[in-house]
Amino acid sequence: MDFFAKTLRLPGRWVNNVRFTVSSAGDFESITADATAENAGIIDGIVIPGMPNLHSHSFQRAMVGMAEYMKSADDDFWSWRNLMYQCANRITPSQLHAITSQLYMEMLKAGYTSVAEFHYLHHQQNGKAFDTLTDLSDVIIEAAAGSGIGLTLLPTLYQTSGFGGQQPREEQRRFINETEQFVSLVEKLLPLRSSQLQIGLAAHSLRAMQEGALTELVALKNDLGLTTPLHIHIAEQEQEVSDCENHYGCRPIQWVCDNYDMNESWSLIHATHITAHELELLAKSQCIVGLCPTTEANLGDGVFPVKDFLDLDGIIGIGSDSHISVNPIEELRWLEYSQRLHYQKRIRLIDENITHNGTNLWEQALSGGAFACGRAINGIEMNMRADLLVLDDTHPILYGRKSEQILDTLIFAGNTNTIRDVMVGGNWVVKQGRHINEDEIRHNFYQAMDTLFE
Ligand SMILES: [Zn+2]
Repeated sequence: MDFFAKTLRLPGRWVNNVRFTVSSAGDFESITADATAENAGIIDGIVIPGMPNLHSHSFQRAMVGMAEYMKSADDDFWSWRNLMYQCANRITPSQLHAITSQLYMEMLKAGYTSVAEFHYLHHQQNGKAFDTLTDLSDVIIEAAAGSGIGLTLLPTLYQTSGFGGQQPREEQRRFINETEQFVSLVEKLLPLRSSQLQIGLAAHSLRAMQEGALTELVALKNDLGLTTPLHIHIAEQEQEVSDCENHYGCRPIQWVCDNYDMNESWSLIHATHITAHELELLAKSQCIVGLCPTTEANLGDGVFPVKDFLDLDGIIGIGSDSHISVNPIEELRWLEYSQRLHYQKRIRLIDENITHNGTNLWEQALSGGAFACGRAINGIEMNMRADLLVLDDTHPILYGRKSEQILDTLIFAGNTNTIRDVMVGGNWVVKQGRHINEDEIRHNFYQAMDTLFE
C-alpha cells in the first residue's frame, strides 16, 4: 500500500512530499522524498514516528489518582506501594484484560505505538499458579493485540521482599516464582513471538532476587539467544541504595557494573540515585537508562541527572510506569524542565551543535526506547515497523509552524492532543482521534472498574 505525506520526519531530517510503501507484513518498504501523490493514500497532516514506551505495569492504571491524599506527614514511595499491593491482589484476569486494553488504547491515542510491559503479576489471587493460562501473560498479550499496540512482554522474576533472601510478604504472593518455574514460563511464551510481539526478560530489582538468580537470568537470556535487553529496576529509592550497601557493601549501579558485563543488552530502569562515577560507567557501557519522569516525580523518587548523562553520550528512553500520566509529551517536558529548574537555565538537554530541543528529545527517546523494546521500531526507515503518528497541522497550536519547530511546540506547548491518526504495523488504529475499538474497550473498562473497587 502506498501513502503520501506533505511533511514527514525521517531519522535526523524533515522531508516534504514523501511517498512511502508499507509491506503486507507491516514494515516500511520504500520511502521517497520529493515524490508525487499519484495513486497513493493521502495522509492529511504532519507525520512523525510513534514513540516506544519502555516501562509499564498495566494493572497500576486502575489506581491512578487514588493515592493523592495524605495518610501521614511521611507519605512516600513505600506508602504508595501498599495501595498498589491492594490493587494487584484484587484484580481478576478479566479486569486485568479490560484495564490493560483501556491503557494501551490511551497510549496509542497519546503517541506511544509500542510498549514494554514489565510483567510481575503472575498468579491467581491466592498466589497459586493458573492451571489454564501460562500466567497472566496471556491476558496482556490479548489486550495488546486487541488494541493494536506493539508489545514487548518482559516476564519478570520476583522472589524476595528484601536483600539477603528475605521471605516474600503475603501481599507479594501473586508475583513470586522459583527460578525453574520462571524458566518454564519463558519457554512457553517464546513460540508466541511475532512481528507485533517480542519476548524479553526482566529482574524486578536487586532487592527482589535470590542470591545468584540474576546470574541465572543472564545465562538464560544468552542460552535462549534473546536479543532484547534485560530490564531491571535499579536505584529508584535511597532506601534501596542503602539496603544494597548494607548487604553487598556497594551501591546497586556500582554492583551490577562490577559483577556483569554492562553493555547495550541491559536496560536499567530508574537509575535515579547515581554517583558521578556510576554515571560515567553507564554512559560508557551504552546500556539503556529507562526514565519515567512523571512517575518518578509522583512517587517522590528523585531527579536523574539527565543533562550530565547526555553530555557523556548516554542512552535514554522513556516509560509511563505507574501511568499517573500516559503521555510521551509530558514525560519529555518533565525531563527537560527538571534540569531547567535545577540549573536555573533554559535548553539544558542539547548542546550548541543541535539546534532544536524538542526534535532531539523525541529522537533520543525513540532510539533508546526502540532498543530497549528489542523490536524494529526505530523511526520511519526502511525495514522498520510502519508505526507513525499524524499530527493535525490545522490545530491552532501547530498551525503555521515551520517543520523544525513542530516537535518543540508539541512538547512544550502541546496541552491538547494534536494527534489525529495513528498507524501501527501498517494498520490504522486511531482515526480522527478515535480508536477503532474505542466503544467496546471503554465499556469493558467501566465494567471492570465498577467491580474492582465496589
Ligand atoms: Zn516500574
